[in-house]
Amino acid sequence: MNESKYVYLDNAATTPMDPRVIEEVYKHLKETYGNSSSLHSIGQKSGQVLEKCRTTVASLINAKRDDIFFTSSGTEADNIAILGVASKNQDRGNHIISSTIEHHAVENTIKQLGNDNFEFSFLPVDKYGLINLEELEEAITEKTLLISIMFANNEIGTIQPIKEIGELANKHGVLFHTDAVQAFGKVPIDVNELNIDLLSASAHKLYGPKGVGMLYIRNKGVKEGWGEYIEPIMYGGGHERDMRPSTVNVPGIAGFSKAVEIAKEEMAHEIKKQTTLRDKIINWVIENIEDSSLNGHPTRRLPNNINFGFKYIEGESIVLDLDMEGIATSTGSACSSKSLDPSHVLLAIGLKSEEAHGSLRISLGRFTTEAEVDFLLEKLPFVIKRLRKLSPLKKGAE
Ligand code: PLP
Repeated sequence: MNESKYVYLDNAATTPMDPRVIEEVYKHLKETYGNSSSLHSIGQKSGQVLEKCRTTVASLINAKRDDIFFTSSGTEADNIAILGVASKNQDRGNHIISSTIEHHAVENTIKQLGNDNFEFSFLPVDKYGLINLEELEEAITEKTLLISIMFANNEIGTIQPIKEIGELANKHGVLFHTDAVQAFGKVPIDVNELNIDLLSASAHKLYGPKGVGMLYIRNKGVKEGWGEYIEPIMYGGGHERDMRPSTVNVPGIAGFSKAVEIAKEEMAHEIKKQTTLRDKIINWVIENIEDSSLNGHPTRRLPNNINFGFKYIEGESIVLDLDMEGIATSTGSACSSKSLDPSHVLLAIGLKSEEAHGSLRISLGRFTTEAEVDFLLEKLPFVIKRLRKLSPLKKGAE
């Protein structure tokens, strides 16, 4: 592998940190080392930085500053949202609605509640990965506490009808959580316009540091007709207004905030640039590589996401061969890419097991150039051809 020419196209798994973010984190690692809960001036300075970051992060989704609760990850934010609502409202209901294509951070957290007599409905999706709004409305019962549907899918990039889901949740007096880890900073989000009560995000998907996330909690967790609707799931000190104990990672959060600032300024330009590169790759591959198909929706998808199916070969082999050519991609989600089970997302959109095995996710980023895209389009057909030559499945089909 030629390190100098390595092309990183796995930005949905994680992004490289933006150099401007690295600078900001470095500055705060040196200067903002005080404990934000301490009374002395060094601690107070950390506290002020923290509150400024809260304002910045809130502004990206038109939220109030005090409704942002920093966490250690998107996974932790999902856990607090789901488990926190479930445990606070056991006398009110025991039913949660979600979808069959959620990230494991949501799926496994909801399933865990089955041990506590909770019931859940995982709504099916169509061939593009979209839930059906009528089925959602039918699934709501008087025991339903929460709808948790992701904003955009991490594997196929499909963007759900979030506004309509928010309206249904509001109409039936049910809380609405969305895992926006893949969408936050990539597409515009307004929690008020979309009727979102709870939203999870993670810094490392938008060129910020790993191990920093946030949960938006509307009105600090108080709702008309509900009273307090969420409680902490971890106990310790009173950090993050008793919602998430543990000494606050101020330098990491400062990096998150810087990443948000940049995303706000550059989002419109990035959407345009990445959509153009995305569609160039999609159109070229579908036209030039036989037995290839696009997974996910043709237009209702994240600007940086591409997911192809290639018949007769394994996604794992494509990823490894492309890696040898100096290109990083993935098959399925990064968290499950070490498993040989077919992706639950691809099965949910109706692919057969062998089709799901032949998937390749290409996720573009801020630093992706047209020359890198051309390099991919030069190497990919050779990799596919070489693997198909060796494939018993391809021989069987001839
Ligand atoms: N939700 C989605 C949709 C994701 O893509 C991911 C990460 O891949 C997560 C949650 C987990 O986020 P984190 O890595 O910050 O725990």
